[in-house]
Amino acid sequence: MSDRFCWCGNKETRSFSDEYVRCAECGTLISIVGLSDDELKVDDDDGAFYGKQYWLEHQSKDLGFPNIFERARNDLLDRNLHWLRTLLKYKAPPANVLELGCSHGSFVALLRQSGYDATGIEMSPWVVEFAKTTFDIPVFVGPVEAVDLGDRKFDVIALMDVLEHLPDPVGTMRRALDLLSPGGILLIQTPQFKDEMSYATLVDTSAPFLDQFKSDEHLYLFTKESVTKLFKQLGADHIRFESPIFHQYDMFFIVSREPISTMSDEAAKEKLENPRGRFAQALLTQNSEIEKLSDHIKVIDADREARLEQIHILTKMIHDLQSTAKPLV
Ligand SMILES: [Zn+2]
Repeated sequence: MSDRFCWCGNKETRSFSDEYVRCAECGTLISIVGLSDDELKVDDDDGAFYGKQYWLEHQSKDLGFPNIFERARNDLLDRNLHWLRTLLKYKAPPANVLELGCSHGSFVALLRQSGYDATGIEMSPWVVEFAKTTFDIPVFVGPVEAVDLGDRKFDVIALMDVLEHLPDPVGTMRRALDLLSPGGILLIQTPQFKDEMSYATLVDTSAPFLDQFKSDEHLYLFTKESVTKLFKQLGADHIRFESPIFHQYDMFFIVSREPISTMSDEAAKEKLENPRGRFAQALLTQNSEIEKLSDHIKVIDADREARLEQIHILTKMIHDLQSTAKPLV
């Protein structure tokens, strides 16, 4: 990977950490220890980095995430709903969706439940079988460049936590944009590196973004500006940044070669008023209530903290007064 230049073609870099350098031109962080193109292929599901063990052991043992069995259940109730709610604003069903790097397939399953014609692509044949049998969904063995999709086009292509793993983001994103039907959009979640972040400050403050420095997997960590530049270079200069579910370290956006239109919550809701969609709508409504409660708890916690702080200040004042007050004779 050390001989790899930035996706933008620039060769001049600035130092950042032991594992990453920063592109002097576009500001993207570039891994200098990432895997080679051959190591990224999954020819052998038992031995390849992104093979079976990536999902069964690496995710839980090395990275501390729940394994794929738990994720297949849990993701449905948080991130998948956040993504669906955002997608509904831009493209309501019926629409064709392709998810690159669909993992266990729960988002594809939720999309299908909501009335989209959704299909996934994943690198490991083992995971593809897992997704197919777990959720009864169509999934291709990828990468997308190797899949024969005939003349199929998609209204939406989703890449959730995938862009940062791509060895050739320009080539893969060009392929994705070419697969879009007229007015089609990409829906993307990826870590957001910020210009002002220095490695020393991140370490000193134990910043959540430190978790994104998985240099063998996260080959490029983009800023909002550099990701905008990447897509502009590919003729996709319409981009809308949305609120990411993991706001401490991610960005979440919609990008297209054509102007992006939105629809009201009410209009999107109507699209789910059918026998299958009602289940998705019920989950969305409950998830909104949970988010509201969670926001409310944050306000209550902050208020409690502020009151405790006042009590501490007042207690200290009383102590100070008591120790300096002269005794009345
Ligand atoms: Zn660059």
